[in-house]
Amino acid sequence: MRYTVKQKITAVTLLGLIVLAAGGMTSYRTVVSLLAAAELREPVYKTLAVLKDMRSQLMDIDTTERGFAVTGKAAHIEQYAGASEMIRRDMDAIRALTAKNQLHQLRLDLLRPLIHQRLDFTETVIDLRRGKGRKVAEQQILKGEGILLRDKVRSILSDMEREEKLKLAQWERTMRIAGYNVWYALAAFAIGTLAIVIIALIIILREFVRFRRTEHMLQRLSFSLDNVKDLVAIITPKGKIEYINSAVENTTGYTRQELMGKGREVWGSGQYGRRFFKQVWENVRQGQLFQGEIEGEKKSGELFHLNEVAAPLKDRKGNVKRIICVAQDISHQKNIESRLDYLAAYDPLTDIPNRSLFIEKLQSEIAKAKQGNGTLGVFITDLDRFKFINDIYGFEVGDIVLKRTAEKLSASLPKGYVAARLGSDEFGFITTFQQQADLVPLVQRIMDILTETVNANGEEVVPTVSMGIALYPQDGEDAHALIKNADIALSRAKAQGRNTHQFYAEDMNANISKLVIMEKHLFSALKNQEYTVNYQPYCDLSTKKVVGSEALIRWKNDKLGLISPSMFIPILEDTNKIIEVGEWTLKTVCRQLKEWGRSYAPVPIAVNLSMIQFRHAHLVDMVESVIKEFDLNPKHLILEITESIFTQDISFATSILKKLKGIGVSLSVDDFGTGYSSLSYLKRLPVDNVKIDISFIREVTVDPDVTSLVTAIISMAHSLRLRAIAEGVETEEQWKVLRLLKCDIAQGYYFSPALSAQEFEKHLR
Ligand code: C2E
Ligand code: CA
Ligand code: CA
Repeated sequence: MRYTVKQKITAVTLLGLIVLAAGGMTSYRTVVSLLAAAELREPVYKTLAVLKDMRSQLMDIDTTERGFAVTGKAAHIEQYAGASEMIRRDMDAIRALTAKNQLHQLRLDLLRPLIHQRLDFTETVIDLRRGKGRKVAEQQILKGEGILLRDKVRSILSDMEREEKLKLAQWERTMRIAGYNVWYALAAFAIGTLAIVIIALIIILREFVRFRRTEHMLQRLSFSLDNVKDLVAIITPKGKIEYINSAVENTTGYTRQELMGKGREVWGSGQYGRRFFKQVWENVRQGQLFQGEIEGEKKSGELFHLNEVAAPLKDRKGNVKRIICVAQDISHQKNIESRLDYLAAYDPLTDIPNRSLFIEKLQSEIAKAKQGNGTLGVFITDLDRFKFINDIYGFEVGDIVLKRTAEKLSASLPKGYVAARLGSDEFGFITTFQQQADLVPLVQRIMDILTETVNANGEEVVPTVSMGIALYPQDGEDAHALIKNADIALSRAKAQGRNTHQFYAEDMNANISKLVIMEKHLFSALKNQEYTVNYQPYCDLSTKKVVGSEALIRWKNDKLGLISPSMFIPILEDTNKIIEVGEWTLKTVCRQLKEWGRSYAPVPIAVNLSMIQFRHAHLVDMVESVIKEFDLNPKHLILEITESIFTQDISFATSILKKLKGIGVSLSVDDFGTGYSSLSYLKRLPVDNVKIDISFIREVTVDPDVTSLVTAIISMAHSLRLRAIAEGVETEEQWKVLRLLKCDIAQGYYFSPALSAQEFEKHLR
């Protein structure tokens, strides 16, 4: 078992305190006993002095007694009186001094009568000398009674003296011993202190050596660990950082100084605090290995991820001395993971949920609606002819259009609803509703926003969208059915000429299967010669004479019957089959022109060009080679191009138009007014005719605003030396108004519907 520095210091301090206490106690007791002894010595000395004095007084009494017996001189009497007085006082003094000594008191009791007898003896001698003379007095002395008494007194005094001297000797011995004790105490004190100092020094030295050794080890460790990519930290069992390698500094942004002595949680995110690490260290201390993914936070606040392992570092005896933490920065990996998670649920281009998240959301919305008897609207919207935006402007612009569409859609949805990207140009969203009628303004608003012009890379793109809507619960009970039916409604909206919305209706299923069947049949229509071309006359507005015609394709299938071009042209466009079919139409028309040219005065025929054809790289070559093939005068051929082409890439459109003009054909802008081009566009286009859209003609007689607009178009066309063609003239009134407005040519049921070639031929005669 090893002790910590703290424990050692405590032990040494305790030892020091014990030694000091013992020394102090001994010294105290010694001093107390010395003081007590000093107090005892004083009366002993005094007693001995008094006893000595008594002895000498006795001697004096002896000598003065003999002197007076011999000489009879009065001086001896005086001397004797002094001595006897002294000896009496000494008696009193000694009694007082030895009051506690009962033996002495007994002796004094014996002494007193003896001294009195001795003094009486001297009195007797004095009386004899005065009365009977020298001889009698001397004889009295020689009898020895006085000497006997004196010796008895002396013997008692000697006893007392001996006893007192014995006491003194005892005291001296005590003093000597006490002296030794003091020395012993001092010596013990000194030795103890020295021992403590030595032990403390040894401990300090050992700790220093250990510290140096650890430091050295850490230096070596640090040197090798600083070149390691992993983050390494060594911490005390209590969780205080003792060492970190450079990778910790580099990754966390904290310096070594900032981290030393702190807790590991310093570079942990709020996810894991001090308590978490406390538990981790506790487990590690008990010998467990910690391994886990931990979110870290840099000094800058940026989050990162670590795969961390913490293990105990044990000494030879198995005690946990340190904890080592080794961690790999797995932020990159984590980012990839979260990116993958993100990609699984989100569309990376538009940053909105993808189809699978949309389905998930729809499922949870359905579950919610089911509980609360709620209703849901599932909307799928699709950019019309998105493929062409890509073809015309390139993918970069296409991407921008998609992004903007996602943004606009997200922004236009009510709060709490999110848009999802379901496919390349397909978006979806879900809302709740009270009444179906409430959805129409929402749809209208969203469609308006989505069809706003998008500025992308300097291009102005005007997208149109179609939308299909299915409602829960009436149109489907689950996500799958609702999405399918919204898709069907969308197809229906597209079939209706796009840029519109459709609510799902039960019969659509049948229609949609019709659409599928139609697509299937359309595939082989050309090969099976199911197409024909009809001709709708162009009439001079003032003379009503046929001055040309528009070629309109017809598709008649044995099973499906006659199908409107509005239904199948979009499908041909979407499948790119329009290129082939368009070429077939042109050839058919040219063949017809050639044929009629042999018998009748030539009238020009207008052929519709789809946007796809217009964009097709070989359009110009194709037109040129067909004209050559039939040896036609190109001025009898008119090509109708819809206005939307010009709103998209005017310079490209212009260059193609110029090339076509170069061949010698005439050009018409079809459906003028429906697109977003302004009248001023016309100035820049090398075209010959402007076809005013049917929607204006329909209202030209009812709405004064439309009348003035049509007037403006016509006068503008004339100022640019273009002919104005009105399409869809159905009534006499329309004809009259248009004639008044100086429109050049009219086409419409008022004059004639589209006719078969044979029927049209009648007009040529
Ligand atoms: P469009 O180019 O605007 O053709 C005029 C359409 O209006 C024709 O419909 C025509 O029958 C119809 N129409 C003519 N007079 C009247 C009228 O007085 N009242 C009404 N309500 N409609 C009238 P159709 O033949 O169904 O063609 C529809 C569209 O299909 C055409 O519209 C055109 O965009 C396209 N299309 C037709 N034939 C071809 C073709 O050969 N090639 C291409 N690319 N598109 C074609
Ligand atoms: Ca047309
Ligand atoms: Ca038209």
